[in-house]
Amino acid sequence: MIFLPLHTRRLVIQVCCGLKAGPHQKSVNLEMSRPSSNLAEFREAFSKAKHIAVITGAGVSAESGVPTFRGAGGYWRKWQAQHLATPEAFARNPSRVWEFYHYRREVMMTKSPNPAHVAIAECESRLRKQGRKVVVITQNIDELHRKAGTRNLFEIHGSLFRTRCTTCSSVKENYKSPVCPALEGKGAPDPEVQDAVIPVQDLPRCEEIGCSGLLRPNVVWFGETLDSNLLGEVEKELEMCDLCLVVGTSSVVYPAAMFAPQVAARGVPVAEFNMESTPATMGFTFHFQGPCGTTLPPALARHETEIIS
Ligand SMILES: [Zn+2]
Repeated sequence: MIFLPLHTRRLVIQVCCGLKAGPHQKSVNLEMSRPSSNLAEFREAFSKAKHIAVITGAGVSAESGVPTFRGAGGYWRKWQAQHLATPEAFARNPSRVWEFYHYRREVMMTKSPNPAHVAIAECESRLRKQGRKVVVITQNIDELHRKAGTRNLFEIHGSLFRTRCTTCSSVKENYKSPVCPALEGKGAPDPEVQDAVIPVQDLPRCEEIGCSGLLRPNVVWFGETLDSNLLGEVEKELEMCDLCLVVGTSSVVYPAAMFAPQVAARGVPVAEFNMESTPATMGFTFHFQGPCGTTLPPALARHETEIIS
C-alpha cells in the first residue's frame, strides 16, 4: 500500500469521484465541450462568489519581466534553475547558489507588480469590505502579489526575501541589498563570468544569538517537499471556495494541476486566464486566453451588483 500525503489522497479521491454520478455532478462539465469565454457569464458567477481562490503561476511574474531560468534561453551563467535550486547544489557549492539567489533578489528590486497582480489585490480589498474573501495561492517566490497589496497569500514555494538557518531552522524576512557584504557586486549572469568562490563563513549567516549557522533562501527547491502545514491551510481554502481562478499557468502545470481539478470535481466554477488552452482546460467552466494583465482586470472589476459602503 502506498501512503500518499493527506492532501494527495483527498485529491485522488475527489478526482475519481468526479467521474461518477453524484449529488454535485449537475454543474460539472463532463461533455468536454469547450469552456465558455463569455465575460458576461463569468461576471455573473463572480458577482455571486463569496470565497474566491486564485491560483497563480509563472506567467503572472513573466508579465512583470521576471526571469524564470527555465526553458530555452533561460540560463544564469551555464545553468538553469533546476541545476542550482536543489539541496545538492547548495551542499556542493553554497557560494554559487547564493550568487544565483543574490542576483535574483537584486533583479526583483527593479520589478513591479503588473495589472494582473494589481487587479487581484484590489479585488481582495474591495470584496473584504463586502464580507467576501479572496485568497491567493502562488508558486511565485518574487513577492509581487505582496507588493501589489494582496494580504490573504499562500506562497507555497516560499520567498526570495526570506532566509532559513540550516542550523537552527529560524525563518526570517530579509530585504538586505546586498544580502551580505561578500556578495556585493557578485552574481552577474553572463556565461563567461567566473564563480566568486566566497568562503562559507562570509555567506549570509544566522543572527540568532549563539547560532551563526549558514542561511539558505527559504524557497522550496527541486526534490524538496512543500510545507505540510501550509498545504493543509491551502486545502481548507480550496474546500471552501465557491469560485476558483487559475491565472498565468495552465491546468496541466503545477500547482494548478494539483488544485484546480479538486475544486472542479465539487462542481465549483473554475476559470482559467492564461496564454494557452490544454486538454485539462476542457474540464473547466471558463477560459480566457491572452496575457492575464489584459484579461484579468476587466474580469475582476467592480460588478454592478456590488454595494460599496
Ligand atoms: Zn540559526
